[in-house]
Amino acid sequence: MSVFDAIAGQKQAVPVMKMAAKAAANDASESQEMTHAWLFTGFGREEAALIFAASLICKSQGCGLCQECLTVLAGSHGDLELIQTDGLSIKIDDVRELVQRASWSPSTSPYRVVILESAERLTDSAGNALLKAIEEPGLRTVWILCAPSDADVISTTRSRVRNLSFVAPASLAVTTSAEILRLPFEIKDVASAFAAAAKIVELAKSGAEAVAEANNDEEIRKAKEAWGQQGSKLTAGGSKAIKELEKGQKSRQTRMVQDALDTVLLDIAVKYRDQLVSPVAGGSAADKVKILEKIDAIMEARTRLSRNAAPLLTLEALMVALR
Ligand SMILES: [Zn+2]
Repeated sequence: MSVFDAIAGQKQAVPVMKMAAKAAANDASESQEMTHAWLFTGFGREEAALIFAASLICKSQGCGLCQECLTVLAGSHGDLELIQTDGLSIKIDDVRELVQRASWSPSTSPYRVVILESAERLTDSAGNALLKAIEEPGLRTVWILCAPSDADVISTTRSRVRNLSFVAPASLAVTTSAEILRLPFEIKDVASAFAAAAKIVELAKSGAEAVAEANNDEEIRKAKEAWGQQGSKLTAGGSKAIKELEKGQKSRQTRMVQDALDTVLLDIAVKYRDQLVSPVAGGSAADKVKILEKIDAIMEARTRLSRNAAPLLTLEALMVALR
């Protein structure tokens, strides 16, 4: 078993992470495979960052079963700095403090790993304060920034990190595609706007949950096996490990639903953009302004969702605006 088993459908990204973890285990210095500053983008990026962190902190490159792996996956390992923010922006003072903590040597592990979620919320000055740290991280420090896309971080940051992008799993793409994308264009009144919002949230949720749940039971089963369950009794260490695993699975599921909704909203925005640039669309200047306003409304909804706004309420307001 390996921590990487939990990420399905990432045929490009997983080998890159595995090779990096392997190189890192042999030698802490920079190499072709191992980089000390990463930018993870796309679907499931935050989950992937935790998994990669586990593979660097675990003594067997991410076995997925030891206490190190499980506490990293749950976000609670002592050598992991997991920065999640509820604020509108990440400010320079936050970054300065973080840079200092990041430079400490790891206490028990080969590496100290810093995961900065929502890196798109770094103010420009905060982003600049981070540059030196990600350009010359300590030998034993690894930075993983997470953002929806590489365009969401300032270019000076982008040029100093290695970008690894994660694609939405095919099974999710199928559920969310055609049916969802038609909905905003069929809205006639407030009632149908609300119905469209409910439908989108429901489809995104069930798609993401199906993907997450497919992994959960198998993970638990393997972990129990590895911890030597006899009958229904686990050792104390084992049941603690299973609890950590379940905690990690739960937050993974929440993030997958968020990512699924974000993917849907981006796809809808692309449809409007296509209308805007399509030569056959014609359309008056006033029509184009309306389309631009709709794209703005979609981007605003994405921002709200990324700050943990209630999905249904956010989508309802958006669908009314897209009417
Ligand atoms: Zn492990």
